[in-house]
Amino acid sequence: MNLFRNFKSVTKTCYGRGSFGKLGEILDPHRSANKQFFIFLVDYYFEGKADFIARIPATAEDEIIFCSTKKEPTTEQIDGLRDDILARRGLPAGVIGIGGGNVMDVAKALSLMFTNEGSSVQYQGLNLIKKPGIYHCGVPTISGTGAEVSMTAVLTGPVKKLGLKCDWTVFDQIVLDPDLIATVPTDQWFYTGMDTYIHSVEAITGTKKNTFAEAYSEKSLEMCREVFLRMDREDVKSDEFLMVASYMGGLSLTYSEVGVCHALSYGLGKVLEIHHCIANCIAFNQLEDVYGDYVQEFKGMVKHNKVNIPQGLAQDWSEETISAMAEVAYNLPHMWDHAFGSTGRTFRIGSVKVLDKREGSRVLDGPSFLGGDR
Ligand code: NAD
Ligand code: ZN
Repeated sequence: MNLFRNFKSVTKTCYGRGSFGKLGEILDPHRSANKQFFIFLVDYYFEGKADFIARIPATAEDEIIFCSTKKEPTTEQIDGLRDDILARRGLPAGVIGIGGGNVMDVAKALSLMFTNEGSSVQYQGLNLIKKPGIYHCGVPTISGTGAEVSMTAVLTGPVKKLGLKCDWTVFDQIVLDPDLIATVPTDQWFYTGMDTYIHSVEAITGTKKNTFAEAYSEKSLEMCREVFLRMDREDVKSDEFLMVASYMGGLSLTYSEVGVCHALSYGLGKVLEIHHCIANCIAFNQLEDVYGDYVQEFKGMVKHNKVNIPQGLAQDWSEETISAMAEVAYNLPHMWDHAFGSTGRTFRIGSVKVLDKREGSRVLDGPSFLGGDR
């Protein structure tokens, strides 16, 4: 299938061990814009880590704001940050997000909301943003989401969990330093790493893909196999591979779509506030009927890395919870169309039969939805 997508890439990419040390030099030419100060949004994991903070090239005029990642970014959070900074300091020269998908999405969204009036709620969707944002730079400290390269900043709003998605969302600069991801705890390293594996699987298996998507997916999958099946985490190449796999998996989606796993994961995220990457792992673990050998391979990776994927969660869910999740999932028709074509199909989640039907859909055996072997 031909997808005539006209994709805006990240303008500049600096990659390599130690490249974080180049950040000051990279940012300097952009300092003179607006009120001539930078906002550094930094994952709160680094709060109090003096050695790391000393490496952030912030001047006395700049501001470092530590961001909690306990919750995924919300429209309220972005609006509040924007209003506070504008009231106290005026318009910054730029925003630098140092952290995972969470902090990078906050940086992207904030950059846009500095120049677009009103609440970010009204811009959740495709091409709703009216004006370019301010300069923004992403520095991932955990790899897998592809947020460093994607054209979306995913926000949870009062009604929708949906990105601010447009060309201007894409970072002006990213700095990919594999040294920065070494401290990520193993479970989180795996869950987030699996996001790029699942992006690549979903990109390559659906109907709306082109050769670019295939090329990026295949390379990303190959690198994931190295990282999660063959290498030890201590292997010098492991973090380098994972960082590039995340980038490639992100790009595979620019010429394709995510599929069933992400549709279900969005339901888990919106209704139960389960974080994106672990929600994906929970869903993917049950989707052998849809993604076949890839799910077998995923299970092999889980075993190899001795991580725990929660199962049987649905046992305590009410009918309302299940319906709310199913509604979120079914309201993502582009994902279902990509996965199954426009006719849809029936499939199984674990042992449960589910009807994929674009209108008036329902989960056939509700209480067991995503319940694994219950
Ligand atoms: P995250 O940003 O939620 O961080 C996960 C955990 O790792 C946090 O506890 C964080 O404090 C910690 N952490 C980060 N770096 C660390 C380091 N170097 N050492 C130790 N701990 C560290 O993780 P994520 O999985 O990268 O991102 C998930 C978010 O990304 C969600 O909000 C999701 O919606 C978003 N997302 C965005 C896109 C996109 O294209 N924009 C795609 C997928 C997911
Ligand atoms: Zn994802």
